[in-house]
Amino acid sequence: MTKIGFIGLGHMGLPMAKNLIKAGFNVSGFDLQTEALVQFKKAGGTVCNNLAECVASQDVIITMLQTMQQVKTVCLAENGIFAKAKSQALWIDCSTVGMDGVTDLHQKASDAQLMSLDAPVSGGMAGAEAQTLTFMVGALDAALEKGRPILMAMGKKIFHTGLPGSGQAAKICNNMILGVSMIAISEAFQLGESLGLSTQKLFDVVNNASGQCWAMSHYAPVPGVLENVPANRGYEPGFSANMMLKDLLLSQAAAKGAGINTQMGALSAAMYQKVADDGLGELDFSAIIKVC
Ligand code: NAD
Repeated sequence: MTKIGFIGLGHMGLPMAKNLIKAGFNVSGFDLQTEALVQFKKAGGTVCNNLAECVASQDVIITMLQTMQQVKTVCLAENGIFAKAKSQALWIDCSTVGMDGVTDLHQKASDAQLMSLDAPVSGGMAGAEAQTLTFMVGALDAALEKGRPILMAMGKKIFHTGLPGSGQAAKICNNMILGVSMIAISEAFQLGESLGLSTQKLFDVVNNASGQCWAMSHYAPVPGVLENVPANRGYEPGFSANMMLKDLLLSQAAAKGAGINTQMGALSAAMYQKVADDGLGELDFSAIIKVC
């Protein structure tokens, strides 16, 4: 029986860990939040009292944390993954943390005799709950093959994007598109309304015309046209505007590092910054329509 240590049982990590338990894996978990541990225990997980306990003797260690700083903390701490994991264990990082420092962490994992892959996800909390996440995996072949059954217990699609670090590259490119397209459709709804079009009519047309995109057909930022979207519940997240801002800043940092000018990405980061500055950052990212 594969033993898994899961670190970071938040909005995404908890439902992902639950699916691993349902699939029959032996899952231990650690989080800094007591409530997360309570929920994890209810789902049948083994709660660890500290990081080292969650890492030692596991075959696979998964991190699902918010930031690169948090990932570095749990990897590099004296009682952390690289110091305490057993030789040839597989470290899977599902967090979205961008390019800065990612290859260095893979190298340090390798120096510690660990296998590793970066496997950020698309699909949100609904996908995490429904076991329908898409994984973008940067990894050597052997690490991916070892991780595949674990990933398939949490999602339905795996894209091998290339060498370690490339999963992060794919994820921040994808989210830059999402940030930009959510703004584009928000502006269209505002313009349509001021021209006398009903939101329903505009939705029906665009959803069947060349303006169609995922943000429109699955996540429209106006109430009443789709079921179960944040716009129908006062923009309760979902995926918060602060998280979208984080990802847009990660893509801007990567673009700067690569010497690429992504103008729409930069503009969308500035608009999400305004949402945060207006105190709306904990609303869902589709609340961007409020500043359009
Ligand atoms: P979250 O803040 O809900 O969860 C992170 C968890 O990590 C928290 O429970 C926190 O207590 C825990 N944590 C932080 N530092 C820790 C430490 N040192 N040791 C143990 N636990 C620690 O975040 P989330 O929404 O689950 O997102 C996680 C990652 O997934 C982010 O990088 C995010 O960008 C990405 N993501 C999120 C979504 C979404 O819809 N929420 C979708 C796709 C990708």
